[in-house]
Amino acid sequence: MKTLLKNARILKMPKDEIIFGDLLVEGNKIAKIGENLSVNADKVIDCDGNLLMPGFKNVHTHTAMVFARSASDDLVLHDWLFDCIFPMEAKFQPGDIYHLTKLGILEYLRGGVTTAFDMYFTPPEIIKASEDMGFRTCILATSDKESIAQLEYNLKTYNQPDSLISYKLGIHAEYTTSLERMKDIADLANRYKIPVYLHISEGEQEVKDCVGRYGTTPLKFLDSLGMFNYGGGGFHCVYFTDEEIEIAKKRNFKIITCPCSNLKLASGIAPIAKYQEAGLEIGIGTDGAGSNNALDMFREMYLVSTLQKVINKNAAITDGFDVLKMATYNGANIIGLEEANCLEVGKLADIIMIDLKNPSMQPINNISKNIVYSGSKDCVKMTMINGEIRYMDGKYYINEDVAAIMAKAQEVTDRLKAK
Ligand SMILES: [Zn+2]
Repeated sequence: MKTLLKNARILKMPKDEIIFGDLLVEGNKIAKIGENLSVNADKVIDCDGNLLMPGFKNVHTHTAMVFARSASDDLVLHDWLFDCIFPMEAKFQPGDIYHLTKLGILEYLRGGVTTAFDMYFTPPEIIKASEDMGFRTCILATSDKESIAQLEYNLKTYNQPDSLISYKLGIHAEYTTSLERMKDIADLANRYKIPVYLHISEGEQEVKDCVGRYGTTPLKFLDSLGMFNYGGGGFHCVYFTDEEIEIAKKRNFKIITCPCSNLKLASGIAPIAKYQEAGLEIGIGTDGAGSNNALDMFREMYLVSTLQKVINKNAAITDGFDVLKMATYNGANIIGLEEANCLEVGKLADIIMIDLKNPSMQPINNISKNIVYSGSKDCVKMTMINGEIRYMDGKYYINEDVAAIMAKAQEVTDRLKAK
């Protein structure tokens, strides 16, 4: 199958340069980029000057947590978790996570997200939902209930070439994991020479508790176990000390920031500008819909930049283009998906089209800045994953009835909410 996307502006990434031309997709890869390509394609789409760019990589989420959207608001963290989230999660039945994940994927496709780094229970249900909808997911190990042997099995089974699915090693967080388990995970990471990802330094109390338990801050403590000898990544990273920033640099430890969730749960504001200055690689995630409540990378990008400006009282820092790069190019690299980090020949065709005719994208002074500062999901015209158009102009191409996906997610949610 050959799809020719003609007459486009193309932002290849990682440079802030836009060219005019055509892009040919052959199978699941980008086959050619150039001016006036003359190809016998199966499908030709006239992009009419709209922008093609790499899809967004949502590098921290719990997709199935859409069940908690607007069912767990305006509560302090403890009550949010213990009175709302945990009791609802305790009612999960087989199949629930499959149906809920599909609702989340609808939102991703509508918002130009082509990959999610998804941390939640029952990986097989998440995998089935992703594959059924043609969506790319990198699964993160999360459950303490899975044995180390099971994790090894998952690493071998779910990391196949040419698959929509990949799998990474992780723990939920220091404060929810036993010391023995953390040591086992560190051993596994060292045996396979792989990175470890986790929630870390999200709240002030969490950091204090870790100091109380182990005598030092979370990143420093976990690093002392050898957990990040082959790198890793942290979700939130709101409260890293200067010493931990040095450890992150040394270990190639990535920062994954989730500003909406941090604001709504009153966790704090991650010092992203400081991390940028230290040369750390930064990606962006939405976190789950229970704490956000949207799965919207546009809103995240806007906040990543503007929050740094306000906390540093400096409107010149955390440039909009750098944030767009975090949401696409960096995000892909952070999860080992370099083959989908930019639009170049040979890369995976995970491409979105931004509607530059949308009033919020006009006039055209600087397209990248338009996307970050005035853009929204409303500007996404097309989402292509693995060479297949899954969303375009208000329509989904997922071989499934959208209304049925929503009805099923509502049915599951109603059951989880029932007293
Ligand atoms: Zn999270």
